[in-house]
Amino acid sequence: MTLNPKHIRRTKIVATIGPASESDDVIAKLIAAGVNVFRLNFSHGTAQQHALVATRIRKQASIAGLYVGIMADLQGPKIRISSFRNDWVELAVGDRFRLDLNQADGEGDFRSVGLEYKELCSSVVKGDILLLDDGRIRLRVDDVESSAVDCTVLIGGKLGSRKGINRLGGGLAAPALTAKDLTDIDSLSAIRPDFVAVSFVSDAEDIFQTRRLLQQHQLQPAIIAKIERAEVVAHADTLSSILTASDGVMVARGDLGVEVGDAQLIGIQKALISQARVMDRVVITATQMMESMINSSMPTRAEVFDVANAVLDGTDAVMLSAETAVGRYPVEVVEAMADAALGAERHPVAKTSRFRMDRAFTSAQEAIAMSAIYAANHFDNVRGIACLTESGTTPRLMSRLSSGLPIFALSHLGETLQKLCLCRGVVPLYFDAAAFDADSIDARITEFLLDGRYLSKGDSIILTKGERIGTAGSTNIMKILSVY
Ligand code: PGA
Ligand code: MN
Repeated sequence: MTLNPKHIRRTKIVATIGPASESDDVIAKLIAAGVNVFRLNFSHGTAQQHALVATRIRKQASIAGLYVGIMADLQGPKIRISSFRNDWVELAVGDRFRLDLNQADGEGDFRSVGLEYKELCSSVVKGDILLLDDGRIRLRVDDVESSAVDCTVLIGGKLGSRKGINRLGGGLAAPALTAKDLTDIDSLSAIRPDFVAVSFVSDAEDIFQTRRLLQQHQLQPAIIAKIERAEVVAHADTLSSILTASDGVMVARGDLGVEVGDAQLIGIQKALISQARVMDRVVITATQMMESMINSSMPTRAEVFDVANAVLDGTDAVMLSAETAVGRYPVEVVEAMADAALGAERHPVAKTSRFRMDRAFTSAQEAIAMSAIYAANHFDNVRGIACLTESGTTPRLMSRLSSGLPIFALSHLGETLQKLCLCRGVVPLYFDAAAFDADSIDARITEFLLDGRYLSKGDSIILTKGERIGTAGSTNIMKILSVY
């Protein structure tokens, strides 16, 4: 499939798979609509189902001739209520409701429900606000006993079994990798995901542990730290050590927003996106981006602007959750998201950069990457940057700066190209430099991009490569080539 250069979207789209999107047919349509990475949500489904879906994704991506990434998102220690006798209850404002550690699963009713979280009673105090089901239900703690907490309903509604529970301000925390996560990591050998997302990360050790466990299975996916605990964003040192340990972060607005409140989240989103880019990490903005499209064929203007705002904030990717997992319009929502992103990318804010003017570069690679993007943005004739890459570092570094120009990442390594699916502005393309003589490579590259309709005759491109092609970390050459 050839892309028209005019339609290359820079912002990447992550779509969550679920009953509405797991068939071959819908996966194919979602790829055509612009999904760059599929998320397999391990909070639902079995490892076998996820492995089956992963096979379908790979098959449909290869039919489409595109690189499409796969992200395994571990459930993590989300704290949930247990289940009700009749699946759900209706709570009204002013009702008394009890969270009871001794109540058996399946025995909950409109007066009380069980909970697995043993530390509940030592983690809350009278006056605390507890938020259930992503904040839809709000309880005030009136009394804390040794194994139960009595509450009053402040915001009522329907409460279903196994819904999540958060405390306003954070602090309901359990160790990050659960027994289920460990089993799920073992099952990832069959999936070989490009990305693994770790939920409710509390410190850098959670990331190190995940990486060690994956390495035991000879897996080296990029690890994405989901930032969804109020206490993590409140501690600058913890947050930056998590960023250092991981390959990327997710602004997990679902849980984080509930704990800090949406008004606080606005600034946190901007700061996190900016910090991730400064630290050369990728960043995904997630949750309720086009929520109304679960049931509606069109987004609201507010949703279009929410996606656009994340793009203007500099996010690499925007993510769809229930919209594509269980929604009625999985394909339409991807199209709507792509349109919103393209609209935002036309704005100068999305293209202008400060080029790290105030920073010293720490490697030849970074010096070349920054010089290339600077030259490209300031030389009108340049229509793109091509990087011959092994590890993907050079294109990833380039994409940490804003630009309106595509970064063509050329590699013979599938794993590298798959990981670049998440990087803003990067177009991953298979190119085996070893198949050509060293002196003819430049000409082959321009030919290849011309054939793919990524460039037209008369354009110029900037090319970066290493003297010793095929060696990771060796990029030390930048050239301007004219396309004939
Ligand atoms: P989740 O994570 O969808 O797995 O909860 C994202 C979020 O909390 O925003
Ligand atoms: Mn979450």
